[in-house]
Amino acid sequence: MTAAWHLTDDLHDFGERAEPLLARDPVRHTQALLILAALKQGRRFGEGAPYFAWWGDENGECLGAVVCTPPFPPVVGLVPEGSFQALAETLFAAGVPVSGASGEIGQVQRFGRAWTSVTGLHQRLTAAQRLYSWAEPTPPAQPAPGRARTATIDDLDLLCGWWMAFADEADVRPPLDVTETVRPLIDAALMTIWEGGNGRPVSFAGRRAPEVGMSRIGPVYTPPGDRGRGYASQVTWAASHAARADGAEYVTLFTDLTNPTSNSIYRQLGYRPVFDAAMVGFEDGSARVRSLLARERTAVETLGGRLPLPDLADWGTFPFEGSLQVKRLDAAVIPEPARQGEGGVDCPPCTVSGRAVWTDGQWKLKALRPDGVLALLLEPLAHLDLTDLDATQAARLGVLTVAVARAVEALPGVGRVHVNRYGDGSEHLHIWFFARPLGALQLRGSCLPDWLDVLPPIDDAEWERDLASVAAGLAFELG
Ligand SMILES: [Zn+2]
Repeated sequence: MTAAWHLTDDLHDFGERAEPLLARDPVRHTQALLILAALKQGRRFGEGAPYFAWWGDENGECLGAVVCTPPFPPVVGLVPEGSFQALAETLFAAGVPVSGASGEIGQVQRFGRAWTSVTGLHQRLTAAQRLYSWAEPTPPAQPAPGRARTATIDDLDLLCGWWMAFADEADVRPPLDVTETVRPLIDAALMTIWEGGNGRPVSFAGRRAPEVGMSRIGPVYTPPGDRGRGYASQVTWAASHAARADGAEYVTLFTDLTNPTSNSIYRQLGYRPVFDAAMVGFEDGSARVRSLLARERTAVETLGGRLPLPDLADWGTFPFEGSLQVKRLDAAVIPEPARQGEGGVDCPPCTVSGRAVWTDGQWKLKALRPDGVLALLLEPLAHLDLTDLDATQAARLGVLTVAVARAVEALPGVGRVHVNRYGDGSEHLHIWFFARPLGALQLRGSCLPDWLDVLPPIDDAEWERDLASVAAGLAFELG
């Protein structure tokens, strides 16, 4: 038996195959199920034609399902392990629009890796959300004045305005036609308004009619002037009860993880997290450098020559004087050439390179050579880059960075320690510490590394005394 991804635009055939599978865990697959329900009711999400993909063998049993309503990204809600690459290849071969991906974060990341490997595109995280389910209903801790009521057609303009304000503020794509979106929800009594103490509408919560025993709350919106008074809690509480009264066994909602206030409101009402959901978009990874080169070229053409020298050239800290001109930017090189020691091959820091000053068996501090000022490098013993560090290693790096800075600034005659990470030359993580001599005001700031290349080195005896003192200082600091 060979399983494969099958692409179709036949909503009903797909629904028959995939819905029983998705309905086994309706809360987890709320996105796909509610999109299918809306499509069956004739709702349109955008100009593009919806498409569907199901994973199955020749017996026709469906074991995976993907739903897409362009221009929205496909919902990769249920993709079996080991079939991500095949999914990406199937969608790519069919030439269907894939603007990004949305769904549970692990699924989105695995699909993103497959899609970028097939297309050469790069992915950008555009939304971080958490799906909540109403598990332990708890009334608002501080009830707000007023009352809930079901919206009527007289509220249409108000709610359309609030819906568009919500989309703008939450940076989500607005509905194709907001009136067409809001009116059916009002007609179906699915829009709840909270009226403040004086009867003025101050907040609203929409919801979907129950599908497979499940209703989703959203959007919830309170205009800026009426926030902070508990209206959003109150209207969500009312809309959640209304969803239960509609017959929903499960009441769910998505929150924006970058908005801690809304997350705490829903937790307080008894909503509990189900999973974290991500949305990614796919982009051409060369766009950033092309934008840079285009800006430089336009500026040079406008000026009719080179870019002007920056103020930096007049600073007292700038090491050079005389006639200078700004270089032109070279063409981009993508992919970039390998850095020194890439993949741990022929990596100098992995062998002994430079003078060891201190180590704890995981990290080492070393000095490369006598430089114009004392220069030290902090590195992990293992071949790791900055973004490879786990939480424990990252925490240790923070402690060590401060300890080394303290030990170097404690040396007599050090005005300030500079701390830098570039990472462009060598893959093995190395954090630079430069000891700027007290009183050397020209060595302050960002030009110090350039001074290092022109100043004669410290003499050996001074260097040795400093290294011994730094080692002793770290021993006291770190135990
Ligand atoms: Zn290395």
